[in-house]
Amino acid sequence: MLISPTVSPPQPMLADMNTYAAPSYLAPERLGPWAIYLEQIERVRPWLGALGELAETLIRPKRVLMVDVPIRMDDGRMAHFEGYRVHHNTARGPGKGGVRFHPGVTLPEVMALAAWMSIKNAAVNVPFGGAKGGVRVDPHALSLSELERLTRRYTSEIGFMIGPDRDIPAPDVNTNEQIMAWMMDTWSMNAGHTATGVVTGKPLALGGSLGRRDATGRGVFVTAREAARQCNIALAGSRCAIQGFGNVGYAAARLFHQHGCKLVAVQTSKGAVFNGAGIDPEKLYDHIKRSGTVSGLPGTDALSSDEFWRTDAEFLIPAALEEQITRANAGNVRAKIIVEGANGPVTPEADDILNERGVLVIPDVLANAGGVTVSYFEWVQDFSSFFWSEQEINARLDRLMTEAYAAIAAVAANRGTSLRTAAYIVACERILQARQLRGLYP
Ligand code: NAD
Repeated sequence: MLISPTVSPPQPMLADMNTYAAPSYLAPERLGPWAIYLEQIERVRPWLGALGELAETLIRPKRVLMVDVPIRMDDGRMAHFEGYRVHHNTARGPGKGGVRFHPGVTLPEVMALAAWMSIKNAAVNVPFGGAKGGVRVDPHALSLSELERLTRRYTSEIGFMIGPDRDIPAPDVNTNEQIMAWMMDTWSMNAGHTATGVVTGKPLALGGSLGRRDATGRGVFVTAREAARQCNIALAGSRCAIQGFGNVGYAAARLFHQHGCKLVAVQTSKGAVFNGAGIDPEKLYDHIKRSGTVSGLPGTDALSSDEFWRTDAEFLIPAALEEQITRANAGNVRAKIIVEGANGPVTPEADDILNERGVLVIPDVLANAGGVTVSYFEWVQDFSSFFWSEQEINARLDRLMTEAYAAIAAVAANRGTSLRTAAYIVACERILQARQLRGLYP
């Protein structure tokens, strides 16, 4: 079923940047990720000059698809799940964005995640538009074969919207290489030919890329390193606290650890732990694998969620879900630099509080762009059927992220904005220039 977006976008407003006030119809602390995204666009709009006239295109998703995903459960019952795929903007290239399996997935959330992909891909200048998908499901409550049936039926339902030159999904929360393999196989079976480039984040044996698994965490580390350089903070002997110990959090933790930064606190959905002398990420990983939780890792103390956000550390890395740092806890943050591994973890009101308190926030659209950057490398390798070494991939990723950080930091310094607004200026200019050059069809 093709449906229209359910959230009314704001009317174009060419606000005076000196008298900016959030429009009353936006209540970002209540309305969730899509309202947060709209607020972020309102904040950048005054900086876009004549291109600002085209900004309406950024607050309307291009296509929104909602699908029913019925599957046969192992006990013979039939269960229905709701799935989505959203193309936010494809002015600069095919859609690109992950697939999330989570019981909290909603359409406005997927719309926001798709929009953030448009901004991210443009901010680091990879030639994709923005897309995202998800299924409202608790995958941990499914058996492996139920999970496979869910993935295959969802892929088949969204099949006409994806493709190597149309929209290329990738892993996100609770999806992984195996799920990408099933997606690739299902789409290829329906198409009648093998198309490895229809998804990224695949297993190596199916055209995946070396370095993809750790790429998002590596990008988090590279942008944090560049920010530390800018703020004269030495990595060796510094401290970091990480929320989320999955694909992003675990890879980032290992890199910080390798560079002499102590991992002092970790929070996951099952609790939080602290050790001022540093936690070995590998030991924590093994402990979670054995026990299913961070709690009880020898040598650590339990932390409440409130205490976790107050951790005394140079770096605080939210790498789990949206809306984690809000006006309720932004005033308690003691870190000097927040690196947004997750998408949308800091609300606009929290952004203002942190900005006033001198906490540097490296925005998601820059900090976690390492994943889509290596996804781009994977897609290029699949098309050319020529694969690069891990060293080459990591070096290219490091260079691209370092240059993106420098370019965005320069805009922030020149215009006197936050890094987030600067990243949005760079990205929105690229998207709207593409839109202007393409013209309006028909
Ligand atoms: P994941 O499923 O591998 O890990 C998620 C982690 O978050 C787990 O450790 C989980 O315990 C924790 N978590 C979940 N709910 C929590 C809660 N309420 N409180 C504390 N911790 C909680 O997911 P991931 O792929 O690492 O993605 C994490 C974030 O990074 C998401 O926002 C995702 O959109 C973003 N992201 C991921 C990638 C990627 O390549 N995987 C790329 C860019 C952005």
